[in-house]
Amino acid sequence: MGKKRIIIGICISLLIVLLLLVLIWSLNENYKRIAGIRVVERHLFENQRFLTADIVYYTLYGQYLNVNIVAPSLRNSNSLQSATLLLLSEQGTIEYPLAFKESPLGTLFYISGQINQGIFLDDLNEGRYEMVLKVEESAPENKIEEYYFVLSNQTEYPSLEYYTVTDLEGKNRKIEIGVQKLLNPMNETMVLEVEQAKLPEDVYDIVIDPGHGGADVGASGYGYNEADLTLQISLLLRDQLEEKGFKVKLTREEDIRLDTYGENGRYVMANELNAKFQLSIHLNSSSSSLVEGVEIYSPPNASLTFSENLVATLQELTDATTSPNRTGMVLPGVYVRNFTLQDIIDSNEMAQESGYLPYDINTSTAYYGIIREAGGICTGAYVDGRNKDYGANAYWDQNKGVETYLLELGYITSSSEIRQIRIQMQSYIEAIATSTAEYLR
Ligand SMILES: [Zn+2]
Repeated sequence: MGKKRIIIGICISLLIVLLLLVLIWSLNENYKRIAGIRVVERHLFENQRFLTADIVYYTLYGQYLNVNIVAPSLRNSNSLQSATLLLLSEQGTIEYPLAFKESPLGTLFYISGQINQGIFLDDLNEGRYEMVLKVEESAPENKIEEYYFVLSNQTEYPSLEYYTVTDLEGKNRKIEIGVQKLLNPMNETMVLEVEQAKLPEDVYDIVIDPGHGGADVGASGYGYNEADLTLQISLLLRDQLEEKGFKVKLTREEDIRLDTYGENGRYVMANELNAKFQLSIHLNSSSSSLVEGVEIYSPPNASLTFSENLVATLQELTDATTSPNRTGMVLPGVYVRNFTLQDIIDSNEMAQESGYLPYDINTSTAYYGIIREAGGICTGAYVDGRNKDYGANAYWDQNKGVETYLLELGYITSSSEIRQIRIQMQSYIEAIATSTAEYLR
């Protein structure tokens, strides 16, 4: 009889253990479904269990990394208090406050809606940084609960390599950006590995594009043409920027006509040269000799810090005025020229006539080719080769873009302004070089 009792005892014990396991598992699943696993010892990163959120989009534009993350929705949308992106490293934690909104996939978290804001990569010192999403949620009894998520890459973009802009000591750092396995092999997250590195031969800080060239002389007036003057200005600007320690390349150094989209083409060269920043130099023209002033064309969905500062510095150091042109004007002298509805209709008609599928463009797509095509997906690049007359931009669908501005420095059709630009050319160049250095460093 004793034997039977022992067997029954063991069976009951096993049943209880099984029930407990099922209970623990379901609680755990429930927790996961609600939001995340609450981390008590937040600094014991390697030993913690994290819930996973998805990186659904990430871009590197100029010097800025932006990450869009989707995490399962919390108990209700009102309970979400705050969200922060953490870069955990040996030296400590860097925090970026996140904006968030509900989406069909869950809650969408992002650093900035502007392509040239986010994680400023040039600020990162050597080390390994692991990216974690921290969410604070209000709980009953006025408590705040913290949830931590590691990040899995759901994009088609596997990894990125970045070199910081040459600093005042002539040094650079290399940054590898990608999703890596963590110590706990169940987890992976986005990792930034930063190390001192010599700038490779084919990596530049800045590209300057002297507009036009060769048979394409651009605008002309009073014995001058745009192609010559933009080259003269660009060569002097390169000297100034090199004096400030930047590694600079021109799209052309002589009076030649460049290809547009093919290898060594004007719109792809900045990407071929792995540059962070590009200035395309132009002079404007008008049917009226009275029209004068600068127009700085900036990327779409971007902070206008550089453009605003450039306009102010030009006005400080030269007699430059701001243009009366209203098309695309955001602030005096500062312009964002995107496709208009009429431009989109025209583009679609051209596609139909030439027999290719219309491009996917909208009113956030940059109108000027050099700003758009150098910026990849950040600026709506689209020249993928479907139009046989154009060729293809090999970088059109990249999530890495060169921050590009088109500078119309004045009107060649105004005798007084062209005279002023020639007399004050050194000051114009100093204004551009100073604003560039302030922005990049
Ligand atoms: Zn031009």
